[in-house]
Amino acid sequence: MTDRKQINFSEAKKLLEKYDIKVSGEICINKIEALSNTAEHLGYPVVLKTNSEKKVHKSDIGAVIINIKNREELENAVKKIDENIKKAGFERQEEFLLQKMAASGFEILVGAHQDPVFGPLIIVGSGGKYVELLKDSAPGIGLLTEEDVKEMISLTKAGKVIDGYRGEPLDKKVIISIAISISRLMAENRDILEIDLNPIVLYKDGFSLVDVRVIKGNPVFTEAAPEIPEKRKNSLNKILNPESVAIIGASRPGKMGGIIIKNCLRIKKLYPVNPKLDYVQGLKCYKTVKDLPEAPDVGIFLINAEGVVYEFEEFCKIGGKGAIILSDGFAEVGRKDLDDKLLELSQKYGVAYIGPNCLGVINNFTGLNSFFIPEHRTSIIEKPNGIGIISQSGGIGMEIIEMLKIDNMKLGKLVSIGNASGSGIAEILDNMGEDPEISVIGIYLEGIKNGRQFLDIGKKVTKKKPVLIIKGGTGGGAEATMSHTASLAGNLDAFRACCRQAGFYLIETMTEDPKVMVNVLSLLTTNPMASGNRVAIVSVGGGAGILLADQATDSGMNLAVFSEETKYALRDLIKAKKIFGGNPVDILGDCDDDRLLEAIKIIDKDPNVDAIITAIYLQVPYLSEYLPDRLVDLKRSMRKPMLVSPRGFSDYVSSTRKYLSEKDFPTYTIPMIKPMCIALKIWEEYGKTF
Ligand code: ADP
Ligand code: MG
Repeated sequence: MTDRKQINFSEAKKLLEKYDIKVSGEICINKIEALSNTAEHLGYPVVLKTNSEKKVHKSDIGAVIINIKNREELENAVKKIDENIKKAGFERQEEFLLQKMAASGFEILVGAHQDPVFGPLIIVGSGGKYVELLKDSAPGIGLLTEEDVKEMISLTKAGKVIDGYRGEPLDKKVIISIAISISRLMAENRDILEIDLNPIVLYKDGFSLVDVRVIKGNPVFTEAAPEIPEKRKNSLNKILNPESVAIIGASRPGKMGGIIIKNCLRIKKLYPVNPKLDYVQGLKCYKTVKDLPEAPDVGIFLINAEGVVYEFEEFCKIGGKGAIILSDGFAEVGRKDLDDKLLELSQKYGVAYIGPNCLGVINNFTGLNSFFIPEHRTSIIEKPNGIGIISQSGGIGMEIIEMLKIDNMKLGKLVSIGNASGSGIAEILDNMGEDPEISVIGIYLEGIKNGRQFLDIGKKVTKKKPVLIIKGGTGGGAEATMSHTASLAGNLDAFRACCRQAGFYLIETMTEDPKVMVNVLSLLTTNPMASGNRVAIVSVGGGAGILLADQATDSGMNLAVFSEETKYALRDLIKAKKIFGGNPVDILGDCDDDRLLEAIKIIDKDPNVDAIITAIYLQVPYLSEYLPDRLVDLKRSMRKPMLVSPRGFSDYVSSTRKYLSEKDFPTYTIPMIKPMCIALKIWEEYGKTF
């Protein structure tokens, strides 16, 4: 791009020195007398380099000569670089950069660029010639704190060296302060698009910065995090927790406006609005919002887009508190102007809205359900629990409900935000964060509009409750994402950094399956907490246990080492002749109900075990039809989380799983190890049961 340009060494040096970052070297004209004087003044040995802004890797074309010990070597070096530059097709240099030869040390990289969603993105990692090959760096966003940089460093292999891997620890403070300064520099100079400090040669004490690249261009501004006005917060709160609901576009059964009435019949103050109907589904129908007996907490709109804009204003005028706009025909089809009008009205009247182009809100505590999918085609959950879901896609939101339902799980609240021209993910997260009925939050996210607001609110919410995220559009899907929700997909590195700094659990598995997140939520809300990640794996038949153990260790869990007591008890139980008690434990195919239950009880008591995973072949002859009920009772008395995976796909296995789920005892197949791993981390971090 023509508007991007590398600034020259002296300018870059001046800029960095303003931020207390000392750059090694001086510019000198290409005359041997002058060069020699500068070298004398710096003190041999010196390093001679080209001073061109055009070359990204100076050493690649032989334009860096190190360890020059005297005037004679200097003269040769000048000749050599002149030659190499000519060979590479560049003009003769008028100026050279001369530096004192830095003592050898460990080469670190600190780099930065401007991210349009999150602001400055800083990376720290291994530096030198092999940066691209090693790819050892960690990102951070925004104005970094000491804690942020420490964590970034700890995520890299370079961090291990800095901490003294096979040697003395290096000056970490220096890297922390440089990274913090660079984040400030980038935040205060939005026209500095990129900075590369590579390498920073790091020592036990201090550093030498021998190469800098600073790219300047058209400034990239990032929106600041807006405060959510109190009135809007209250309005959003009414939308998510309404007592009275008007349905603008109410209709007969079979139409969208009819499905919603049916879904919301638990709400006592339900007001259908449709000028053509007097009664609908046994309820009095109102001609317009002006005829309503009271100003409702929420208006659900499902008329055409132009009509919505008009009716929304009428709704605001009668004192309606908040809106859910299900209708499509807005930004997603190129009518951003209609979204803009909604937003303008929303700001004018202080009335928040969700949507447009969404499935809206489910609140199982009050009975609100604006999803317009026919009941017999999807799954409806009515029993509430502490799970809150926010989804940028209505379809994925629906799938998540179906996935929960298949295990007979409960659901507290779910919001599908659609275009989110009004209240976006961050505002809803803020609301659920303060909601005492919600204990754990899952988000399906594609892109965010205001990265800094998302980060700030995230930091606040994750102090109180865990937030899980699955992100669409991390790979080739990014473009589809942009048109899908008419919002901007953030760069993945920046997004990862945001998740880490906010304390979100980003589920990175590239799976087509949101079930990973659903199973984390299920494990968290149906088990007591664990206080570590030492798992015991119990299997009926060896193979399944071995496969699970491999996956468990691969995803970072530890296999528990049983206490002597446990080992002996297990040996007695299985009547094994030799000492028995490895993990995974195979309790063998001739296992009966008593043996299985007893094995679990023994392991539940072992202080060296934090959680239990069981792989059970219900098919074997001596496990009985009465086992499921006994498992349910046992689980109630257990102190540790237990994940039960009935193996196989026979009708008997399926019906038993269904039976167990109806007893609020979800069982698991794939995916379960990754979800368990995340659940263990969350229990450890929050130290409580959800
Ligand atoms: P480029 O990255 O454009 O190839 P550098 O200025 O980073 O050029 O030089 C390449 C390598 O040469 C550095 O990674 C470092 O190992 C070494 N080097 C450069 N300058 C010095 C110096 N002043 N002292 C010691 N080594 C240096
Ligand atoms: Mg370099």
